[in-house]
Amino acid sequence: MSASPLRSIPAVDKVLQALEPVRLPRPAVVALVRRELAALRRARSIPPFEDVVARVGQALRRRVLSRLQPVINGTGVVIHTNLGRAPLGSSVVDALADLALHYNNLEFDLADGHRGGRASYLEEHLALLCRGEAATVVNNCAAALILILRHFTASKPEVIISRGELVQIGGGFRIPDILETAGAQLKEVGTTNKTTLDDYGRAVSPRTGLILKVHRSNFFMSGFVASPPTEEIAALARRKKIPLVEDLGSGAVVATDRLAARLSHEPMPGEVLKKGVDLVCFSGDKLMGGPQAGIIAGRARRVAGLKKDPFFRALRCDKLILGALQATVDLYLSRADTPGDLAVPVAEMISLQPDALAARAEALLRELKDLPAVCRAVETLAQIGGGTLPQAELPSVALDIKPAQMAASELGARLRRGDPPVVGYISGGRFRVDLRTVFPRQDADLARCLRRALSPAPFPEPPSESP
Ligand SMILES: *Cc1c(COP(=O)(O)O)cnc(C)c1O
Repeated sequence: MSASPLRSIPAVDKVLQALEPVRLPRPAVVALVRRELAALRRARSIPPFEDVVARVGQALRRRVLSRLQPVINGTGVVIHTNLGRAPLGSSVVDALADLALHYNNLEFDLADGHRGGRASYLEEHLALLCRGEAATVVNNCAAALILILRHFTASKPEVIISRGELVQIGGGFRIPDILETAGAQLKEVGTTNKTTLDDYGRAVSPRTGLILKVHRSNFFMSGFVASPPTEEIAALARRKKIPLVEDLGSGAVVATDRLAARLSHEPMPGEVLKKGVDLVCFSGDKLMGGPQAGIIAGRARRVAGLKKDPFFRALRCDKLILGALQATVDLYLSRADTPGDLAVPVAEMISLQPDALAARAEALLRELKDLPAVCRAVETLAQIGGGTLPQAELPSVALDIKPAQMAASELGARLRRGDPPVVGYISGGRFRVDLRTVFPRQDADLARCLRRALSPAPFPEPPSESP
């Protein structure tokens, strides 16, 4: 592109007229045009008018792509944090839509016509599902942890935790940082691989507010490793009158080893509470497959204390989350005997059999037969993701595509710009779409997007890098 300092910056109106229509509100388009023109002015190098229009067009397409929108998850990672973790089931979404469209009894007791407790139904049913005396819910598991830490360390600041459990959970979420944010003081005990009951016992002092256990949900340790049984830590905590809390993170409310053959058993809230832990907390949108939420369950007295904490008010969920979670919890309670048939997409995707995936792959391959690419179905291993059961490998089937006229990375980039966008991965220079995480109802869209991305017809230019 030839640039000249002599050309003048085109008028905003002129650029607006020359642009192709895009699905964006007009003020956003105008603001983006202004921003691009200002960047050119700062750079003191003004390209020809068509180039200015092309540059603005790229910025607009980039904005359109950044809009929160459905994507086809071809990564084979069931709980993909970058792709919104757990998709909700249609019955849950119906319940949500009904609530969202109308008034509701969020804090109104229909039985006696007075102000009622917020989410009392959900709390009762969550307690049932978790086999705890009581339960409540906040915005996410991080919030649950911060609430718990703040509440129990208000007068006694120390939190005892094993060095083997000082973990990093996801992007920037580290247990020691969370403790600091909550104003608690970390009292590390034991070593990375071994912690004994005696380590815990010697660390207890009048300053101890809480003993915290953190489930190693996203990594695995083996070899010379030991930690005392939870029952023994619970007995110690009870003797010393200190609450014992376990952060379970992933929150399996059905037995994971019943969902799929080769899965190990992820600790369930009810099992952990039975060992004498006072409170557990876990995420609503990991293995539970519900909306983003932080669930707290356990001793009634402890849950009541948390709910009375003024900080609880800042973390409470809105009615839509409560509605979606209520519907999800009731699905679990009513279908406890058929875990793979829950109408909870995460559970269904984990329990899918590879044969069903292979049949879908064959049908898709027939659709893609005439395209300029070598397409085949391959056996792969999908993952649960979300920092859950990191060792679990789910036998799966992927479409494996080697385009004739472009690099696999270019195909991937085109698919991300598709409608709907498709996110897959590259393996050995070939592009792959794992079918385990693609809903069967999306197969037709997937075929259409692949056809469009692989066809020689011009494709919208890639959005430029953000400035
Ligand atoms: C994922 C995870 C969290 C954070 O949960 P969010 O709901 O994302 O806030 C906390 N603790 C553990 C052990 C986790 O695995």
